[in-house]
Amino acid sequence: MNKKLIIILCILLIITNCRNTGSETLILNVKQNVFQFYYETGDKQKAIQISEQIPDIINNLENFFGDKFHLKSKIVIKIISDKQVKDSNTPAAKNISFLPWQETVKIYPKAFSEGRDPAGLLAHELSHSIIRNNYARFSGLYNPVPRWLDEGIANQFMRNDRMYTIKNLKNALRKYPRLPGTADFLYGNDAFSLFIKNEKKGPLKIYTISKGIVELIINKIGQNKFLKFLDEVAGNKNRKELFNKYFEMSGEDIYWEYRRYLVSGEYDDNDYKVADLHNDILIKLLQDGEYLSENDPNQQMSFKTINKGNFNLLTFAVWLPDYYFNKEGKKYDWMTGKGWDMLDKYRFQNRNLIMVCLNTIKNTFKDHKEYVLINGKNDLDTIENHKKVGILLSVEGLHIANDIEDVKWLYNNGVRLFGLVWNLDNNFAGSHGNKNGLTEEGKELVENIVEWGAFIDVSHASEQTVFDVIDVTGGKYPVIASHSGAKGIREMSRNLSDDAIKAIAKTGGIVGVPFYKVLLTRDKWRKPEKKIKVSVEDVLDNIDYVVNITSVDNVALGSDYGLILPPYGLENAEFVQRLAIGLLNRGYSSEAVKKVLYKNVFRVLNNMSHSKTISQITEG
Ligand SMILES: [Zn+2]
Repeated sequence: MNKKLIIILCILLIITNCRNTGSETLILNVKQNVFQFYYETGDKQKAIQISEQIPDIINNLENFFGDKFHLKSKIVIKIISDKQVKDSNTPAAKNISFLPWQETVKIYPKAFSEGRDPAGLLAHELSHSIIRNNYARFSGLYNPVPRWLDEGIANQFMRNDRMYTIKNLKNALRKYPRLPGTADFLYGNDAFSLFIKNEKKGPLKIYTISKGIVELIINKIGQNKFLKFLDEVAGNKNRKELFNKYFEMSGEDIYWEYRRYLVSGEYDDNDYKVADLHNDILIKLLQDGEYLSENDPNQQMSFKTINKGNFNLLTFAVWLPDYYFNKEGKKYDWMTGKGWDMLDKYRFQNRNLIMVCLNTIKNTFKDHKEYVLINGKNDLDTIENHKKVGILLSVEGLHIANDIEDVKWLYNNGVRLFGLVWNLDNNFAGSHGNKNGLTEEGKELVENIVEWGAFIDVSHASEQTVFDVIDVTGGKYPVIASHSGAKGIREMSRNLSDDAIKAIAKTGGIVGVPFYKVLLTRDKWRKPEKKIKVSVEDVLDNIDYVVNITSVDNVALGSDYGLILPPYGLENAEFVQRLAIGLLNRGYSSEAVKKVLYKNVFRVLNNMSHSKTISQITEG
């Protein structure tokens, strides 16, 4: 195709009806079409940067539409002040207004400087402009995974262009919440819109899809099939069915395949092992000993998904609610039924009760040779050298122990990670939401655990307990928070303050980012877990958050799979690989991703003693 476009860039002074005076206009002439850039408070430099990207966008459209590409509209882009954004008190997208034959787009200087893709804004608006002017109507905007795609594209854009820093972009996304229908808000030169018109049905549809996704799909199913797919989509058929018919996968899976494709040079799932610091699968196993062998897609963990997720360490927590040990304590409805009945006969005999739990976990893996119970350092070597999956036993709350002797007994029965408290203060420590720290006995216990070469888990502990543990250990022994979010993201007692996270990091310790939606949501108001919308991106945000205030050496994962309602996109253990892809997409190096996913856990656990019982340890 001939180079049709003659681009003349000039700067005019215009008078607008806006408050600001002395505004300048950049006019970009495209054949007979005029693009005008009014910028009222933004600096000239930025306006020029925007305009420089336009030829690429137009080329993309031209290549795609060929002869059909014909512009008539005039686009006015206003760069308005931050104050105006603030005053308007509405999300950015709502401020985009359309006028016939003259499109007005407001670009916020702050959004721009923080990494919003100005070329993307233009591509988006340009598409709409074409539709409005050439076809007069359009019936909607579509992309396969509306809410999640924008961030993927944004990350891709940054990866390719290195124009903006990841941090800035994330700030921008935070300021301008994800809005339905703004998926292509961030599109740049790597994206374009497909315009599909069904001759019979009339309305024209815009499909704004990343070029990368189109390439991926065409590679997968071939161009003809893809065009057929588009025809069918234009015929208003059920999209979900169409995805399954043509791609044999859901829109979400395509999206992840696409993200994987973006990092295809760096991503090979064999490389990315996953060590998980916390799960509640024991409860499921008590109810059904064969639980992990089953193959139900709604099941959060199974032998199959553990394998697909590429785990090399799983932590099974013995968790029994604290009120279970209290004769007056209320027994909750959900605790009745199979499993709990089995435990009930041991209810006030701690050691027998716990023995049932520990044996349930151990028996589950007895006949599976690829799993190794982690007793000591030598087992960690076996896991790494022979590609085994480690089983780490932990307890979630030492209300199940009366005294240090009971804890020793737990150690001698294989427990290596000791969660000091659950939701109520106990003999050893204060729980989250409370003021108390370690008791005198708790201090002695912490000293003991360190001496045994085992680990302290401060998830569920009070802030004072966290600092007391660090104090008692002299800050020299790595402290683990197996499944805790950050108060900086969600202010709630179960999450850790920045100070606590930093203090844990200083010990060389790690914070396991949970998948429990309640700890990850940015919603300010309490909502039932079912209604909380949290995705893989929120888990990644949480990882970023901890990395930003500490380092990539101090983050790990603590899925909490078992009794939670998992985030969108992390429905079962297989999908944890998406975290590797997501982190690579966000610009993490391959080595950094490995640290987050498993190496940090192994580094910390390497402080473990060799397989010994406590009497062997104390006798030297
Ligand atoms: Zn928990």
